[in-house]
Amino acid sequence: MPPPAFGEKSAELQWLGQSAHQPLQFPFPNRSFGITRPVRSFQRSWFEKWPWIHYDEDRDLTFCFPCGKAYKEKKLYAPTAESNFITKGFHNWKDATIKFGNHEGTGCHTDAVLKVVTLPQTTSDIGETLSHKHATEKEANRQCFLKLLSNLRFLARQALPMRGDGNEDNSNFIQLFKLRGEDDTRMTSWLQRKQSKYTSAEMQNEMLKVMALKVLRDISASIQNTPFYTIMVDETLTSAVKNRLLYV
Ligand SMILES: [Zn+2]
Repeated sequence: MPPPAFGEKSAELQWLGQSAHQPLQFPFPNRSFGITRPVRSFQRSWFEKWPWIHYDEDRDLTFCFPCGKAYKEKKLYAPTAESNFITKGFHNWKDATIKFGNHEGTGCHTDAVLKVVTLPQTTSDIGETLSHKHATEKEANRQCFLKLLSNLRFLARQALPMRGDGNEDNSNFIQLFKLRGEDDTRMTSWLQRKQSKYTSAEMQNEMLKVMALKVLRDISASIQNTPFYTIMVDETLTSAVKNRLLYV
């Protein structure tokens, strides 16, 4: 049977989970390193010194989590150079501190940490920052647009003309917006950016039409829920000396 291809999920990588396994309360077993040498076991303090260590409880072996993950994701150029910490497992506790330090200084390890820890974190931070900035701007734009609608509603409610006498900067619409901009500077800059889009007569009429329809629907719903209602009729003389009939 051919050996697994580089980076392929194999039985040797079954130790790899979502994060490095570091069981602080585990009774680490002893290993004997020759007749004259004392027995040694894994030291839980090593987890603190080398946070990349992954410990396999079943086999009493250690692996390097970032290197294993980079190997699995095919991001390592020379994965075999540190196979003891990726596929085979390391358990030479008598030389552990030296070997752990050496592994941490290898190109394999620094490359793996860069690709599966540092870069994803940096990318994530930038993405979150941009996303937050976009959401903030979107909310600010929404608030400004709502204020523009409330301005239109106020002018319509008071029967005040929207447009100016040729100079739109003097119109009730623009002056009211500027007045409210004194309390919220976002409105002034928003209006400058959106001026051609929301200050045209067509857009004002469109927004007023939507409001008028809403009023009509509310009146209609109110009438349908009421057994009795009245209609007031009045007439007024226009500047063209014509009678105009109003239903209220
Ligand atoms: Zn490593």
